Amino acid sequence: MLKLGSVGSDVAEVQSVLRRMGLDPGAADGEFGPKTQRAVREFQKMFGLTPDGVIGPLTWRILGRYLLGYDIYSVQRGDTFYEIAKKFGADPTLLQAANPGRAPENLMPGTRLNVPYSFDTVATDIPYSYDVLARNVQGLKARYPFLRVGTIGASVLGRTLYVLRMGTGERQVFYNAAHHALEWITSPVLMKFAEEYLKAYALRRQLAGYDVRAMWDECTIWIVPMVNPDGVDLVINGLSPRNPYRDRLIRWNGGSSDFSTDWEANVRGVDLNHNYNAAWRESKQAEAELGITGPGPTRYSGPYPVSEPETRAVVSFTRNHDLRLVMAYHSQGRVIYWNFQNLAPAEAKTIGQSLSRISGYTLDQATGVASYAGYKDWFIQDFRRPGYTIEVGDGKNPLPISQFPQIYGENQGMLLYAATV
Ligand SMILES: [Zn+2]
Repeated sequence: MLKLGSVGSDVAEVQSVLRRMGLDPGAADGEFGPKTQRAVREFQKMFGLTPDGVIGPLTWRILGRYLLGYDIYSVQRGDTFYEIAKKFGADPTLLQAANPGRAPENLMPGTRLNVPYSFDTVATDIPYSYDVLARNVQGLKARYPFLRVGTIGASVLGRTLYVLRMGTGERQVFYNAAHHALEWITSPVLMKFAEEYLKAYALRRQLAGYDVRAMWDECTIWIVPMVNPDGVDLVINGLSPRNPYRDRLIRWNGGSSDFSTDWEANVRGVDLNHNYNAAWRESKQAEAELGITGPGPTRYSGPYPVSEPETRAVVSFTRNHDLRLVMAYHSQGRVIYWNFQNLAPAEAKTIGQSLSRISGYTLDQATGVASYAGYKDWFIQDFRRPGYTIEVGDGKNPLPISQFPQIYGENQGMLLYAATV
């Protein structure tokens, strides 16, 4: 139950969705104050519930649909697509897109339709936890059934490593985010991109000048939006009493149970972006010089290359697809890294220059410990194709979600361009 005085990521998610519905819960700060209470009362009135401002099971059942972004409607005799859309404030074209194979003029009573709400699904104003991601993936899949959703494996604690596929074309590209726990803001960047791309496809609209219908047939965009869900959960929601690594995590974190400002690794204290098999020994050596000898918040490359289920899943996914180009999303610095030990093909620099021009980010080569055993390093080394690390935003990790609009604006063009080049 959530009520006045409640705090946490559930409250933030509720605030975010109430705001998208046009109510005014105040800032989506995860604190259930008087403004949020008032907005909950409004919401309850809309659905004929007792307006007590408390989110109990009944209110939650209805609110939960809004968190997912769609309703399920059972067709009545005489219903038309247009009327159903009007009743829910939905776009008729998006309603049809969500229900392929249902003839608009001949709806059978009892048929169940997915009805997308009028607002976007992906939350871009709150800490992006694994639970939010899971709901957003479900919501996008229901609203845009032509989105393919799968899994590349599971994290140490068994969380799903989702993969999204958009398009059917031969040219395949792969974007991933949140190898590093503190850098969870990169996950909604890729999820928002997916939503914009799917919506443009459904509405037959251009996206930033790109013809998405044509792109759909020419390229396949693969997205793994959260490589390190256990780490992200630790940063956003704190250390759960049920976490089997609890005591070790506190020890690895220098005795502190606060993971919100320093933890980049997975739940075994391995820095996933130092765990790939590319100059892994050099990474080990550099680590020793930094005094890192075992699991910890950052930079520990693991007991051996690809020791973690998360990196294993990404490696096997990469090997099983003929990827033309990859981009690994990190924060921060507004920089694009494009090379690894001069193994990148000549075109990688040219493409990098275009990415830099489109985003306003600096094109650079990484040096020192940052230049070993990362995903793009391994990709360049083993495949000799263009691979990039994109460092979004500016400031100290975790970047505040208030930077999201700017970051998304800087990256949408790159995400489109990289799929077509
Ligand atoms: Zn990073």
